Order: sequence, then structure tokens, then C-alpha cells
Amino acid sequence: MMISRFEISKVVTGKILQSEPMYKHTTFGIGGPCDFYIEVKTIEELREVIRTTNEKGIPCLVIGFGSNILVKDKGIRGIVIRLTGSFCDLSFDLKKKSVIAGGGCALPVFIKKCINHGLGGMEFLAGIPGTVAGAVIMNAGTKDGSIGSIVKSVTVMDKKGPPWRIKKIDGKSLKFSYRSSNIPKDNIIVSAEFILKKKNKNETAKRIGKLIKGRIKTQPVGSYNAGCVFRNPADDYASRLIDKSGLKGVSVGGAIVSDMHANYINNTGDATADDVIKLIKKIQKKVKKKFSKNLELEIKIVGE
Ligand SMILES: Cc1cc2nc3c(=O)[nH]c(=O)nc-3n(C[C@H](O)[C@H](O)[C@H](O)COP(=O)(O)OP(=O)(O)OC[C@H]3O[C@@H](n4cnc5c(N)ncnc54)[C@H](O)[C@@H]3O)c2cc1C
Repeated sequence: MMISRFEISKVVTGKILQSEPMYKHTTFGIGGPCDFYIEVKTIEELREVIRTTNEKGIPCLVIGFGSNILVKDKGIRGIVIRLTGSFCDLSFDLKKKSVIAGGGCALPVFIKKCINHGLGGMEFLAGIPGTVAGAVIMNAGTKDGSIGSIVKSVTVMDKKGPPWRIKKIDGKSLKFSYRSSNIPKDNIIVSAEFILKKKNKNETAKRIGKLIKGRIKTQPVGSYNAGCVFRNPADDYASRLIDKSGLKGVSVGGAIVSDMHANYINNTGDATADDVIKLIKKIQKKVKKKFSKNLELEIKIVGE
């Protein structure tokens, strides 16, 4: 690694952890070490990190809460960046029913603050354990709606630089589709603006409570996993295909297909990324054989 902890500490005021196990930063609880895990608190810090890593040719990966990624067992070469500090801020303009949320803001915090300001229209995000940026880039959502539908604009920093200017991408240029967006791969989302609706606080809170209860009944909430592993194929559900292939409860090492929701793979405690990948392949093979359908990954596999 061509950078030292000392060099990073000159530009970063947040955490700097060397050889940090990524299982600590993913909801799967799986993943080998990254060279450096750092938390940046401001745009200036982010810009300096990106400038330095670009100059030195060091790869860097920005993550949120790691709730949609599987990190491989040998870990990640380069720097893993989390947006904290000012990237978690929210600012409201109630006349416009608008909220600008930092990319690092947790979705549950975003939801709670919107309710407190008498805003609704984001209820479908209840129970998704990601950050604002992770949700926007993935167009996270449920059958009730996806985050792209409430995004007005997204503010990004281009990782390729220079000059690592901050650029606002207007809603008209943004395209959201099923669990994806057209936000360029090299762009880091620093914040996003949402347009919501005026809604009664109690009614919104009640609706959210109902949605969370529904999740608890149907999904293995509280287990180590990364949500739905596969994208739903056109006109079908990955969970139905996996279930009907008799795969519920099937395991490889410490990785097991959830009995509650067949599109979830749980880490029972000591699963490796290799176990999960082998189980993914097993599922894909069996579903292909039985239904002639290809299951594509929704989660992102990163590292080596
Ligand atoms: C129990 C559970 C339930 C879930 N339910 C749902 C659901 O109902 N609907 C749904 O859509 N998803 C669901 N998910 C998956 C996941 O929570 C979402 O995809 C979430 O939006 C990911 O956010 P994150 O911040 O954790 O992103 P991460 O997993 O950390 O990252 C996801 C991707 O976004 C990129 N990324 C993160 N931050 C930035 C940034 N600032 N700029 C550019 N790229 C960035 C990462 O590099 C990575 O490629 C669930 C997951 C779990 C564990």
C-alpha cells in the first residue's frame, strides 16, 4: 500500500483503521480486511482523500452501511470510505416540501426527521437499513415505491477528477429503474434532494409501524444478511422460484437460505464469503434447471 496512516491523518479527522476487517462494516457480518477503512466528515476531507488516492493510483470504494454488499474473504485492496459528520446532515425547506439529505444519513433517521417535520411520501423506505446514498444509487424500495420517485436532484463528486468539483445532477437527467440508477459509477453521492408531501405525523408514524411489523413477520430481520440476494426476474419473484426449487434451509458452510424468506441468505455466525458465493451458485443452478430462469444478483460482490 503506497500510503501511510500518517499521510491519511493529514487530511482526515474521522476514524482511520488499518487492515480493518470488513465483517464489522457489513450487515452480512462477512468480509476480509481492507487496507484502510476511513470515515470522512466533510466535502473538503473527501476531496483531499480522492485527490491523494488518485495521485497515488490507490483504489477506493465508498460504502454506506454495507447492507447490500458481500465482501470477499481476502478483503478489499485500497481504501474503503464511509461518509460521516456533515454528510449525515438534513436540511428542510417546508414551503417547498423539500429535504436535502447528506449521503451518509441513515434511512431510519431520514424517515424519523421527515415525520417530525410533518412530511410523508417516503414511508416505503421503512425497514431498509441503508444510507441515503446507498439507497439512491440502488434505487432502493419495495412494492410500495422506490426512492427514485421522490428524488429531485443528486449532488455528486467525480472520483476520477480533477478538479473533483461538486456537481448537481438534476432530476430530468436522472433515470431510475428496478434497483438501479444511471448515476455514473465513478460518482460519489454527497447528498440528495427529495420532494415529499405534507402529511399528518401520527398517520405517517402509524403507517410506518405497520410496514415494519409486516417486515418482521415475513423477513429474517435481525439476522446477518444483506436483504434480497437476487433481483426478481420479469413477472416473477426470486423468492417464489427459490422456494419452489426446495431450497429453503439449504446451506453451504455457515450460509443458509432463510426459511422465512427464500431470497435471503443468512450468515449463521461463521459463514465465509466463499460459502455464500457457493450457495448463490447452487441456487442459480437449481432454479435454472427447474424453471429455465436466470437469477441475477441484487447484492454487489466486492473485494478479492
Ligand atoms: C434486512 C435487510 C432488508 C433490506 N430490505 C431492502 C428493501 O426492502 N429494499 C431494498 O431496495 N433494499 C433492501 N435491502 C438492501 C439495502 O439495505 C439497500 O440496497 C440499501 O439501499 C443499501 O444501502 P447502504 O448504504 O447499506 O449501501 P452499501 O451496501 O454500503 O452499498 C451499496 C452500493 O452503493 C455504493 N455506495 C454507497 N454509498 C455511496 C456513495 N456515497 N456514493 C456512491 N456510491 C455509494 C456502494 O459502493 C455499493 O456499490 C435490505 C437489506 C437488509 C440487510
